[in-house]
Amino acid sequence: MAIVGAGPAGYFAAQALQNLQSDDLAFSIDIIERLPTPWGLVRSGVAPDHPKIKTVAKVFEKVATAGNVRLFANVELGRDISIEDLKSAYDAVVIATGSSLGKKLGIPGEELAGSMSAATFVPWYNAHPDFKDEQVDLSTTTAVVIGAGNVAMDVARMLALEPSELDPTDTADHAIDAFKSSAVRTVIISARRGAEHAAFTSPELRELPKLEHTNVIIEKRDIDEAVARAGENIEKDVKSNLDAMSLIADQVPAGHERTMKFQFMATPKEIRGSDKVEEIVFTKTGSDEEFSIKCGLVITAIGYEAAPLEGIPYERGKVVNTDGRVTENLYVVGWAKRGPSGVIGTNKSDAADVMKLLLEDLKEPKPVTDIANALSGVEVITQGHWEAINAAEVAAGEAKGKPRVKSVARDELLKLAKL
Ligand code: NAP
Repeated sequence: MAIVGAGPAGYFAAQALQNLQSDDLAFSIDIIERLPTPWGLVRSGVAPDHPKIKTVAKVFEKVATAGNVRLFANVELGRDISIEDLKSAYDAVVIATGSSLGKKLGIPGEELAGSMSAATFVPWYNAHPDFKDEQVDLSTTTAVVIGAGNVAMDVARMLALEPSELDPTDTADHAIDAFKSSAVRTVIISARRGAEHAAFTSPELRELPKLEHTNVIIEKRDIDEAVARAGENIEKDVKSNLDAMSLIADQVPAGHERTMKFQFMATPKEIRGSDKVEEIVFTKTGSDEEFSIKCGLVITAIGYEAAPLEGIPYERGKVVNTDGRVTENLYVVGWAKRGPSGVIGTNKSDAADVMKLLLEDLKEPKPVTDIANALSGVEVITQGHWEAINAAEVAAGEAKGKPRVKSVARDELLKLAKL
């Protein structure tokens, strides 16, 4: 089996295959990954102030070292090997490449300097090698984050935290430096609909009052109106969210220097500025009433789309599939399959369902072709190399009281791998 993408969906697919093994059936699994490091979003997406979420990496390492899995990292589909090569070398190929492109608002001014997607900002603060040179200008006092999901909340929190709180985390050093010299003091997190429709999840909302150095402001009126609109037969999750937001609204602002403020029913209309963002204009949703916020940074966190891979059919930001089946011996799992929704654990049952179908479709095994031969000119990072990188990063972190210090440049990562 070949799995393309060493993120949560890829590892959960490998784990599901391991669980399907029996006395009569054993799988050999090769995981192919574009970056020199595995773990996908657990390394480059999860907010660094949420270290508990990252403990799932232990599961990935258990899968990786179970004896029937090989890692081929630093190998790019389309450059080093084609999807057709994989389809002919393996009994089945599973695409687990996620959704890395940020959706756009499609409003005037979105291309101005100072307007960026969470799909750039998040990997930048998480030391993703492809984003290390992004220019993130934090010289403005006010930033606006568009979207009412957990990514918007992560982004807003990272901007509004007292940056020394990031010292004991694995945030990229370049981002900690930028946050420490940041002028941002007010972060507005802006939802186009009412609080009853917000996509935040309540554990994330309930965490906000625990921020020690940031005022978190929600207008009581916004929540009262949302409760009235939601009515009697309110869904459990919505109620839990509104309860959590109500608790925040009841708080007396603590007078900290930094503020994170929620705004509802605001539809972005235009971003204005002569050569960089100076203000964002909204309409009050459902009316023509306009208002604007002066700001120098707008970050959109309104969902993701899968980046297309050659030889694979895509439609509306996803791989075209039926329950994970794509074409003969080609499957898809995770966000590339179902779009960018759910928490990391959602990918476990999702991948298990697809791997069951894969098993049903399996024919007689093909003669073995080892792709290692086809990759002889490529600096492949194996599991052993990754373990060397991991150990070096963790050791560098120990000295500084961090879980790890991530190396951010590809050549540095390759050096740590001791290739
Ligand atoms: P999301 O949960 O789907 O939220 C996207 C938000 O963007 C929604 O509020 C949506 O509003 C808004 N939006 C979409 N198009 C818009 C537009 N044109 N203008 C203004 N607003 C727009 O997506 P996400 O935040 O990217 O998160 C992706 C998944 O990862 C979610 O399942 C999330 O829970 C998960 N995640 C979890 C964690 C965690 O557990 N800590 C952290 C990060 C992400 P409408 O509802 O009005 O469309």
